Amino acid sequence: MTCEDVERLVEAYADGELSLESALALEAHVAGCPACTARLDGIRAVRHTLRTAPYFQAPEALAARVRTTMAAASTSSSRPRAPRPLYRRWQPWLAAAASLAVVSLAVAGVLRQRAALADDATTAAVIEGHVRSLMADHLTDVASTDRHTVKPWFAGRIDFSPTVVDLASDGFPLVGGRLDYIDQHAAAALVYQRREHRINVFLWPHASGSAVHVTRSDARGYRVISWSRRGMAVWMVSDLALVELEDFARKLDAAMHD
Ligand SMILES: [Zn+2]
Repeated sequence: MTCEDVERLVEAYADGELSLESALALEAHVAGCPACTARLDGIRAVRHTLRTAPYFQAPEALAARVRTTMAAASTSSSRPRAPRPLYRRWQPWLAAAASLAVVSLAVAGVLRQRAALADDATTAAVIEGHVRSLMADHLTDVASTDRHTVKPWFAGRIDFSPTVVDLASDGFPLVGGRLDYIDQHAAAALVYQRREHRINVFLWPHASGSAVHVTRSDARGYRVISWSRRGMAVWMVSDLALVELEDFARKLDAAMHD
């Protein structure tokens, strides 16, 4: 993918409208391209501000200040006196507008930080879940390569029905499934295998609509890829090389949404 491709696709990416394959390709380019990183950061900042700016719910302190300003303006204008210069009459309004803008930016910044922290926390929890499953020798509650055995096993054990696909023909056979608890989510864990490597795929319901949003991390020697689509968060973790885990992510996403 080139810088021109990124320029063409970045808005759709920021809106979560790209396919997983395109999103991964775009992220791979952006990771190594400062210009496109800046472009993406700019678009995200604008989107985030538009999404989170308190246009409809101003903080009470700010609302009070605006009311005070309005009251002062109407009191002073009700007194019979020579008309003030136009800029003086508009001054309180400009000040209120400016402070609203500052508050919007500050709130957007805090929320963006919080989202990043939540993602970091979930990444850490996902890696912990992976390590725990391997160390405690508790990889699967239901050991089966048959998705028609694994999927029904979750019924009654968890309050959603995970999509279970087998990717044996693509070189990622299903090993089994288990219940897990990740970052305060009851999660369906599906275990896949690639040669001697294990891949844990954690699924839980996620309210953020149908958009695809991909994040990747590389921490403590583990690779984590996550996205959400059609109301389900998907977090996968393995010590597989990133290109192979990305390949798996594409195939899993395609099979889940066939
Ligand atoms: Zn670029």
